[in-house]
Amino acid sequence: MFITLEGGDGSGKTTVIEDMAALLEEQGIPYIKTREPGGIEIAEKIRAVILNPQHTAMDPRTEALLYAAARRQHLAERVEPALSEGIFVLCDRFIDSSLAYQGYARGLGIEEVLSINLFATNGRMPDITFYMDIEPEQGLARISSNQGREVNRLDLEELAFHHRVREGYQRVISMYPERIQVIDAFGSKQEIAELIKNQLLRAIEEFRHS
Ligand code: C5P
Ligand code: MG
Repeated sequence: MFITLEGGDGSGKTTVIEDMAALLEEQGIPYIKTREPGGIEIAEKIRAVILNPQHTAMDPRTEALLYAAARRQHLAERVEPALSEGIFVLCDRFIDSSLAYQGYARGLGIEEVLSINLFATNGRMPDITFYMDIEPEQGLARISSNQGREVNRLDLEELAFHHRVREGYQRVISMYPERIQVIDAFGSKQEIAELIKNQLLRAIEEFRHS
C-alpha cells in the first residue's frame, strides 16, 4: 500500500508520518518511511540542487523537471521494489506537491505538470493521501520557531506564494476526492494523531479487502 503525506510548509507532515510509522510498527505491518524530493542518494542530490537558497535563477520549468526526475529515481529505486514485495510505503510528499507548487503556485499549469509527472511515474499513484491543511500564516509561524530546520530557497517566497500553494492543493483535492483525505492540521497534536490513527486503520482494512 502506497501512502503519501501532503501539505504546505509547516503543516506538520513529518510528525504525522512518525505517528503513522509507529502505528504500522504496532500492527506488525512491514513498511518503509521515506521522503520527496530525496529518499535515496541521487534524489537527495537533486533535492540539494533544487532547494539551494543560492539558486535564485532557477527557471520554474527546470524546477518542475528536477522534481519529476527526483521522483522517478526514488520511485524506481525505492518505492516500486518495496510495493512489489507487499511492503507499505509512507512517503512525505509525492505528485500532488508538484501539482500544487509548480503547477498552480508557480503558474505552470496543473495539467502540464501532471503530464510530465505521469511520464516520470509511469502512472503510479498513491493508494491514499493525507493532506494536512493549515493556514499559511500558522504554518510559517511553526517553521520559524523550529530552529533545527534546514534553510531552503522556498524560505525566500512571500506569504502570497504559500496562499497559492494552499489554493493549488484545494484544486488537486477536487481532482482526486476519493484518494485524498483532508486533515485539519490546526488541531492539537493528540487530536491529529487520533484522527490519523482511525483513518489509517480504516484504509488498511479496506486495502486488505480489496
Ligand atoms: O516537505 P519539505 O519541507 O521536505 O519540502 C522542502 C521544501 O521544498 C519546502 O519548502 C517545500 O515547500 C518545497 N517544495 C516545493 N515543491 C515541491 C515539493 C516541495 O517547492 N513539489
Ligand atoms: Mg517536513
